[in-house]
Amino acid sequence: MIEKTVAELSAALRRKEISSVELARLFLERIDKYKDLNAFITVDADRTLSQAKASDERLARAANNPLTGIPVAQKDIFCADGWLTTCGSRILSNFVAPYNATTVDKFNQAGVVCLGKTNMDEFAMGSSNETSYYGVVKNPWNPALVPGGSSGGSAAAVAARLAPAATGTDTGGSIRQPAALCNLTGLKPSYGRISRYGMIAFASSLDQGGPIARTAEDAALLLNVMAGFDPRDSTSVDEPVPDYTQSLNNDIKGLRIGLPKEYFSQGLNPEVMKVIESAIAEFNKLGARVVDVTLPNSQLAIPCYYVLAPAEASSNLSRFDGARYGLRAKDYTDLLDMYCKTRAEGFGAEVKRRIMIGTYALSAGYYDAYYLKAQKLRRLIAEDFRKAFETCDVIMGPTSPTTAFRIGEKSDDPVAMYLNDIYTVPTNLAGLPGLSIPAGFDSRNLPVGLQLIGKYFDEARLLNVAHRYQQVTDWHNRIPPGFDE
Ligand code: GLN
Repeated sequence: MIEKTVAELSAALRRKEISSVELARLFLERIDKYKDLNAFITVDADRTLSQAKASDERLARAANNPLTGIPVAQKDIFCADGWLTTCGSRILSNFVAPYNATTVDKFNQAGVVCLGKTNMDEFAMGSSNETSYYGVVKNPWNPALVPGGSSGGSAAAVAARLAPAATGTDTGGSIRQPAALCNLTGLKPSYGRISRYGMIAFASSLDQGGPIARTAEDAALLLNVMAGFDPRDSTSVDEPVPDYTQSLNNDIKGLRIGLPKEYFSQGLNPEVMKVIESAIAEFNKLGARVVDVTLPNSQLAIPCYYVLAPAEASSNLSRFDGARYGLRAKDYTDLLDMYCKTRAEGFGAEVKRRIMIGTYALSAGYYDAYYLKAQKLRRLIAEDFRKAFETCDVIMGPTSPTTAFRIGEKSDDPVAMYLNDIYTVPTNLAGLPGLSIPAGFDSRNLPVGLQLIGKYFDEARLLNVAHRYQQVTDWHNRIPPGFDE
């Protein structure tokens, strides 16, 4: 069963080859067996099994959604009623959410079973899952290496077959980069496609939830449930949700693939480059053709992001003050002292760094020089994509400049860490959808991700293009050594 995709498990549930309770048990056992990966922060077998039981009852009547009875792991950034929801932080280490995020509600309505809450970088700030208060997550492809971040727990869980699929969030790459480093299919939808209600905010104008799955078909199944307008999120877009599985098999003959020269320049590991080139060659065989495009402001994306994201974070994180919920410091003299001690004890180093950068960038004397300037750059970066899409249908390139790196290798060097996001951050700044798919391996048997970037709200096409590739390749079926039984 563990080798089956969500689509295959859905069929197995309907054929009564297995029940939802049996499936949930199987994955709960694996979560326990491989707990050294540290992929989960919270597992609650009783809750999971009682959800599975209810889903079995629904399946016995008439299954109304392909995902009914499927266990899915939730990134611990999504509030789930009655579940501990920590966002990887000490400051929320005692926070039991009193309500559901819209994504969690939608999964519940579809009869999806929550397998537990996955580990993540603290407040989703990181690219390696090393900033979590709950400790580093190990990459199943090599436990000495990081799984990527910030959705590293979700990615490690799906890669090790501890869950058939999981949710993630992506502010600057946190779905796509861990998907790439763990050999998975990870989709960051267009800004506004999925409700952010109940998804703990990092940088509100960039955050977007999405699926981390094995295949494009599975990602489509999850997106079908997750996408849609939500009156509780004023930035969600009121556009109909297509059935993303319907277009998966569309012909891609004549597809114009834009290759931005800036994504293939120095800084890209040569082995990653080779894998990406052979993936592009595969698309040529499928009838697509390549056009050269340029994204001239690409090199400004990292500095722009690392002004805007911390600025928004400094504002969003002001609510964690010990007064309302979460941790409260014990020994304090007055209110101000309570705020200060709570935040000093509750936040980790990376979060504090971001709050300080963000507060500085927003301060009266520097607002124009940093924040306003970054907003202008953001516009130029979005404009680059708009122009590029005049001559192509999708843009392709690497997801990450390297394959997985050693735990500890970059944790003392924030700038080296930030450079991981060089190919993923521009799409968030422009609000566009991005998809990472397995494309091959380097000489150390580490997975390489190919990134597909689409026009605004063109998720269906990205999934279609990825699905056609996955019909003729088998990279996405490879299981990390030792996790195949
Ligand atoms: N690695 C980036 C950061 O640290 C992006 C994180 C994310 O997408 N949540 O901000």
